[in-house]
Amino acid sequence: MNTRNLIGYNYLPKLGNKFKAIDPASGKELDGDFYAASLSEVDAALNLADKAFFEYRNIDRNRKADFLRGISDEIKALNDEIIARAMSESGLPAPRLQGELARTTNQLYMFAGLLEEGSWVEAIIDTAIPDRKPLPRVDIRKMMVPIGPAVVFGASNFPLAYSVAGGDTAAALASGCPVVVKAHPAHPGTSALVAGAVKKAAELHKIPEGVFSMLYDDGYTIGEALVKHPKTKIVTFTGSLKGGVALMKMARERDEPIPVFAEMGSVNPVVLLPLALENRAEEVAEIYTNSITMSAGQFCTNPGLLLAVKSSGLDRFKQALGAGVATIGSATMLTAGICANYGKLSKDRLSEHAVSVIGKSDKLNTEKINQSFAVITEITATDFLADEKYKEEVFGPYSMLVVADDIAQLEQVLNSLHGQLTATVMAEKEELPKYKAITDKLANLAGRVILNGPPTGVEVNNAMNHGGPFPATSDSRFTSVGTSSIKRFVRPVCWQNWNEELLPDELKTGNPLKIWRLFNNEWMR
Ligand code: NAP
Repeated sequence: MNTRNLIGYNYLPKLGNKFKAIDPASGKELDGDFYAASLSEVDAALNLADKAFFEYRNIDRNRKADFLRGISDEIKALNDEIIARAMSESGLPAPRLQGELARTTNQLYMFAGLLEEGSWVEAIIDTAIPDRKPLPRVDIRKMMVPIGPAVVFGASNFPLAYSVAGGDTAAALASGCPVVVKAHPAHPGTSALVAGAVKKAAELHKIPEGVFSMLYDDGYTIGEALVKHPKTKIVTFTGSLKGGVALMKMARERDEPIPVFAEMGSVNPVVLLPLALENRAEEVAEIYTNSITMSAGQFCTNPGLLLAVKSSGLDRFKQALGAGVATIGSATMLTAGICANYGKLSKDRLSEHAVSVIGKSDKLNTEKINQSFAVITEITATDFLADEKYKEEVFGPYSMLVVADDIAQLEQVLNSLHGQLTATVMAEKEELPKYKAITDKLANLAGRVILNGPPTGVEVNNAMNHGGPFPATSDSRFTSVGTSSIKRFVRPVCWQNWNEELLPDELKTGNPLKIWRLFNNEWMR
């Protein structure tokens, strides 16, 4: 494992502030010294990325696809080493990380397939009509092109699938954008291993140097400099609302403002309809016990808000949920900071007069530190509506049940919520028509609406939308998961009146790439 900052094909000398990775389960320092990058290294990485951009964007799509598959294969070759290191840096269990590694390598293959299929460029061709009256129509052809160097902030809660070679990097590289990763300080060793795999694949496939770089930081300096650098054209981020908003502000205030695609907090409301509770309160409680406590609740899709109207079915649900949560042992959180934050927020909620406890785990694992207890609280809709703080995310194994007097009050609660990544309804199919006003509201509130399932567990495919109105994300028009996430890295360009031989292959009349295109109003290939 090479622990130094990486620019293009070169590891840099050990110069900046030294820091160590910490095992959150023991608090012990792990092997390897890491060094914060300097401002001149930020400059070098982005200048090289900018230089590489003009070559990389034009290289053959099949070579780009081979590069993506090459990264995937290099990561797979390091499977055991990566899993072991990620376990000790994140406290996440092996099966969860194995699943995440498979997701990471599969999504690289998925983007390779997307490139080869080709229609993602959205080619639209309107050919000339020279004899159109009163004026001739010129030939116009449009497609998506990459924006330029992207800065990717690795996420702490997905040390593989949303970190160095995760979804953001895969989508950016597929689009033709070079990537400079800002490694998350919670898992620098995992980042070093994955960055080594990307470097190896880049060299093997003769990818222009500078298409991939990775820098470490032990504070905000490097992250800020990356966002402010004039050669950076786009930023992606997963993390806190505070962090995301700070980066958005920096990007907006640049001489040349640039987009920041930030995926931030969400409480992911779940509406529990009366008949579902009456018929299967215990089954629903089991689904939510698992969903709220999985991976210590450290998911952006964690169901942090449960909404229902008073009923005997709801009383059974509460009892089953409380009993279920009490059986869950404590779990190691990703970092000491995240654990302290969770401890504070959950304690603050418990100390509120308006809040009562439905269930709490109290089985402490005494062999490990940074432990979180699952907590489920309850509040009346009236008290919930009276205080904005209850709408904020408590990142961890926490959820709050909001009990409404009637369906009108439950609707009022939904109306008061901010944008969400997901919104769920647990219902019997036959009761859904009666609650159409509620389900319509859910679709207005969130980027993914779920019927009868937990919001945790995000499929990576073509149809997935992982996004939502602010503050869930900075731009609800885009997803950060699935093949459509490539759209964050591209912009449209139309060619007007160009010679056939000078057009990109995607737009040539004979369609040499055989991709789906809208050609004079007709879909064809
Ligand atoms: P974070 O504090 O938002 O940090 C994420 C990344 O952004 C880190 O690399 C951090 O740098 C950088 N960063 C944050 N603020 C910055 C600023 N003002 N300027 C420059 N860089 C900045 O998230 P985290 O450390 O992963 O976890 C903290 C909290 O974020 C959690 O307790 C949770 O509430 C939330 N979170 C949410 C999600 C989600 O999916 N919505 C995921 C993970 C975390 P440094 O760490 O190097 O300082």
